[in-house]
Amino acid sequence: MNADIVVAGSGIAASAAMLYLRQSGYSVIQIAPPEKASEKIGETLSCSANRIIKELGIWELFLSRKYLIHDTVFSAWENSSLTRQSRFSAGEGSNWSIDRRDFEDFLRSHANHSHQRRLLNKIQNCSENVDGLSLELDDHTVIQARFVIDCSGRSAVIGRRFSQRHRVDNMICYYNFIKQSDTEIEPTVGIMIEAVAYGWWYSAVLPDNRMIISLYTYPDLVPQHLNRDLKAWLSVVDQAPLTSRRVESAGYLVQEAPVAVDAGMLIQEDISGRHWVAAGDALVSLDPLSSHGMTQALWSGCRAAEACIKSINGDYSAIDQFRQTMSLAIKAYQTELLQKYRSVQRYAEEPFWKRRGSLIFPMEKAPGKAGT
Ligand SMILES: Cc1cc2nc3c(=O)[nH]c(=O)nc-3n(C[C@H](O)[C@H](O)[C@H](O)COP(=O)(O)OP(=O)(O)OC[C@H]3O[C@@H](n4cnc5c(N)ncnc54)[C@H](O)[C@@H]3O)c2cc1C
Repeated sequence: MNADIVVAGSGIAASAAMLYLRQSGYSVIQIAPPEKASEKIGETLSCSANRIIKELGIWELFLSRKYLIHDTVFSAWENSSLTRQSRFSAGEGSNWSIDRRDFEDFLRSHANHSHQRRLLNKIQNCSENVDGLSLELDDHTVIQARFVIDCSGRSAVIGRRFSQRHRVDNMICYYNFIKQSDTEIEPTVGIMIEAVAYGWWYSAVLPDNRMIISLYTYPDLVPQHLNRDLKAWLSVVDQAPLTSRRVESAGYLVQEAPVAVDAGMLIQEDISGRHWVAAGDALVSLDPLSSHGMTQALWSGCRAAEACIKSINGDYSAIDQFRQTMSLAIKAYQTELLQKYRSVQRYAEEPFWKRRGSLIFPMEKAPGKAGT
């Protein structure tokens, strides 16, 4: 089977790329396993995403989803008292609390177009030849593509084949979606971030009135098997005075042990080649503290698709430009992230904060020519 372009994945980066490719006229095959039924974490969408959603031509449709506006952040970071900040940005508009599954389904449903086929498979292997990339799927089908956009998330199925993937850290996230038992109480909408000795907590009310509570820490700093032990989890929640008070005072109940997910940062050394480019988490998985992962996925999905079209037409400068922009953005992000963690002086001697304040990022390669 042949295609001009293969998009690997069906997450946010892949949908952005597919939406961008709608008008391209090229034959596109999207390859990704069926979406999982389980709930995904990540519901704060930064205002920087607004202009990308507009660029993709689905802004009015996005507004009709009726997600919550999230312009208030309550934070106990540098000190233990809660401060309230407005996050509204006049230039970019509002931040959002989205229903994550609904948002991904919404993007997918608008990303379908007539030149596209969807294969419900995993890519297992790939190799380069003069005409592009040859992809082997889990059912042994072989697809020949002139160009591949790797939006396969943390698994980075194409990028990993051609360059090194660096793990920066092994931070972990434990989270619960919790329900309100006392619905008479109007919960305070907004994000709350609370630094504690062993990590930081994030909580937010979702569009369906559930609350998410999540703890970012290292596995060795909390009780073993926390994700299977409700009693231990309740005691860890109790050690976060502001988060536990928020849960209790708004009438929510923690009734299950948390889900655990990898929240460590991963950086792809090379983000493109002569016949491929990475986008979203396949390119870089950010620290969730920034709440920029989905925005990065939307933006890089678009720019990768743009660079792919130009590249197929013989103009490789767009790939080089994409690499340079990403390289500068990652450097700026690193500086900002370290400053943010180092600003928590009250816990400076605690292992979590020592580790976060001294994260070592891999040396990035100077941006080179596409195909080198
Ligand atoms: C704990 C946590 C909290 C977060 N919170 C937020 C938040 O509040 N706000 C925010 O903006 N970001 C957040 N993020 C980040 C955000 O979720 C990700 O950056 C974003 O989902 C990346 O989208 P993606 O499309 O690149 O990857 P994914 O959503 O991971 O999609 C990858 C796709 O590739 C497919 N795939 C995998 N392997 C293969 C293969 N071999 N062949 C073909 N397809 C394959 C998968 O099935 C999937 O469809 C959070 C992340 C974590 C870990």
